[in-house]
Amino acid sequence: MAEINKLYEYDYKTGTIKLKNKKCPRCGSIMAHHKKPVERWACGKCGYTEFV
Ligand SMILES: [Zn+2]
Repeated sequence: MAEINKLYEYDYKTGTIKLKNKKCPRCGSIMAHHKKPVERWACGKCGYTEFV
């Protein structure tokens, strides 16, 4: 059900790792990644927050 196996995408050209959005385990919406003030994943729909 959850697609948490592809959170990162490696860019071979620039050598950077991109973080992909992941789905909310509660409602299934795409979660947003925030770095400040605390690094976390937050769901804008149901308010679910997962701290990194
Ligand atoms: Zn949610």
